Amino acid sequence: MSSKGPRIVVVTAPSGAGKSSVAARLLAAFPSMRFSVSATTRPPRPGERDGREYHFLDEATFRRRVADDAFVECEEVYPGRWYGTLVEEVERSSTDAPVLLDVDVRGATSVKRVFGADAFVVFISPPSYGILESRLRLRGTETPADLETRLERVRYELTYRDRFDAVVVNDDLDRAAGETIALVRSFLSGSTT
Ligand code: ADP
Ligand code: 5GP
Repeated sequence: MSSKGPRIVVVTAPSGAGKSSVAARLLAAFPSMRFSVSATTRPPRPGERDGREYHFLDEATFRRRVADDAFVECEEVYPGRWYGTLVEEVERSSTDAPVLLDVDVRGATSVKRVFGADAFVVFISPPSYGILESRLRLRGTETPADLETRLERVRYELTYRDRFDAVVVNDDLDRAAGETIALVRSFLSGSTT
């Protein structure tokens, strides 16, 4: 790790709650912040590029990297679909260049356990289950079967709501992003956690 210590910001939430949308606003608001590109075994969506949204790995390669201790944490978020935070993506983090992670609720729990007060975890909450479901359907990025798998997991993910450093309800994106930016600014200036 950097001698100045890592500064890690994590957005976590059920799929469809708005993590990616809030993450994009954070990166725009904090020019020195870097996005930690996770590895995954899920196939790329149209428009996603290897090394930008994710490092897309086949399962054998992913397992080899697990055996090599390449991950800070990894989870089988959906059956047969692995996701993991790479050590090399996080270890460059410093006070001047914080790193942003977008991980599921179990991954966020692991990151908090490993990094403690150096990590600030924000749970992005949908206004309701029904609104989340309709946003996920409207996004249209999953096959019907994958969409059902994600929706089945949402209720479990929502049970993690109050286990992190802050909860931001994503009712209106501008408002929710503004609230998250204010929380992160305060964490980075050393006045939270
Ligand atoms: P996640 O990364 O958590 O899966 P996304 O950021 O992809 O979620 O958001 C899911 C969908 O909902 C996207 O189509 C996004 O444009 C939309 N969305 C996000 N926030 C809002 C909001 N506050 N109001 C309406 N739609 C939203
Ligand atoms: P998606 O397939 O929609 O990009 O992501 C599905 C879920 O996997 C989301 O909850 C996302 O936050 C999570 N995810 C992405 N990268 C990682 C990671 O490195 N580790 C863990 N644990 N979850 C991740």
